[in-house]
Amino acid sequence: MTRRRLLAGNWKMNKTVAEARAFAEAIGRRAEVFEAGADFVVCPPFTALHVLRVTLPARVALGAQNVHFEERGAFTGEVSAEMLAEAGVRYVIVGHSERRHLFGETDAVVEKKVTAVLHAGMTPILCVGEDLRERQLGHTERVVERQTKAGLAGVDPGRAGEVVVAYEPVWAIGSGQTPTPEDAGRVVAHIRRVMEREKGAEAASRVRILYGGSVTADNLGAFVAEADIDGALVGGASLNPDGFVRMAEVITKGASA
Ligand code: PEP
Repeated sequence: MTRRRLLAGNWKMNKTVAEARAFAEAIGRRAEVFEAGADFVVCPPFTALHVLRVTLPARVALGAQNVHFEERGAFTGEVSAEMLAEAGVRYVIVGHSERRHLFGETDAVVEKKVTAVLHAGMTPILCVGEDLRERQLGHTERVVERQTKAGLAGVDPGRAGEVVVAYEPVWAIGSGQTPTPEDAGRVVAHIRRVMEREKGAEAASRVRILYGGSVTADNLGAFVAEADIDGALVGGASLNPDGFVRMAEVITKGASA
């Protein structure tokens, strides 16, 4: 099965409304880059969702960085999946390592969020990845397996292929360090095998698995050259419009329409 490549930008807590608008206008001047056979998404802070909804090029989808799993209620500061979908959001990052480590998100919470996002008709981008200590102990496969299984535990096999998984080694995020593309490809292939075991061959062949961690326009090509890596989740390098356009060019090169 051919899977459409995906380039997802995670802005984290960066960019005001005015800065987001300037980004959208800048990449809009190169809108032809986004026409080819790949998918593109930008995940801004909640405050910039609206301005991006009305200014992003049509082929660049809107994403969110977080969601609450409950539908409504007394959860001060939280935003539900239905609210995001109504705001035009199509993808939601779930279980980013910063949320796991800085905000105490557990596998159980991540699972509920994945389910809520699917239920609202959006695509979860489920983040998994080992930290440096786990890697040094040789536990990488074990960690991504546990996080993948737990994150998708509530997902019906018939829908599991809709999910996007992002393999993000924690030590590579924002550090300028990366695994080799072969190394990342091996871990991603392992995640696909876990998907097959848990959700069946159809889901495993459909699920898109991204690499994330210090991706730039210069190293992206080597990662997506790996057979099992279907794109990238990019933090820092996605903030710059020229960088985002360059990565879009890289990701569409050799992508199937
Ligand atoms: C991320 O935030 O998901 C990420 C991969 O960040 P960076 O590209 O800056 O390492």
